[in-house]
Amino acid sequence: MAFEPITDRALTGAFLGEELRAELLGLSMSEAPKEACGLLFSTDVETGLGYRARVTRVISIPNVAPDFTLQRRFELDPVAWVAAERAARKAGEDLVGMWHSHPDGPPRPSQEDAVGAESLPLDLPYVLVDLSALGSEAAVTFWRWCPATPASPPRAGRRDL
Ligand SMILES: [Zn+2]
Repeated sequence: MAFEPITDRALTGAFLGEELRAELLGLSMSEAPKEACGLLFSTDVETGLGYRARVTRVISIPNVAPDFTLQRRFELDPVAWVAAERAARKAGEDLVGMWHSHPDGPPRPSQEDAVGAESLPLDLPYVLVDLSALGSEAAVTFWRWCPATPASPPRAGRRDL
């Protein structure tokens, strides 16, 4: 189980345009030094869902993680999340991704992020904003959660050397 980077420029560029990328950076900065988090929606059903979607709206959801002192934790307010998704569906939008920020790096999902994804696995792109990498491409990166593959059973006839 791990996050795998989505590095295909054509894919990530089509997923999140420049304007919305800038908006994500702004939302992240406004919450720093806390982690910011939220959802990505699309009205563009033509492009399909998930990894081939095109984000048309980004929103932040209050971070209700109990211990902000760690500063590398986020937990979307479940009530606000449900309300936002319900309103979006009414407006003809689909949830196409999740995002959160690391106010002070690293530019990759943390161990806590993996624990969070494990408990709520969604086959959607995860967008990570690293404010310590502002001004570079690495400030916004794209990830896919790959659940654990079941351990293969011991092979019959395998010889222990
Ligand atoms: Zn994180």
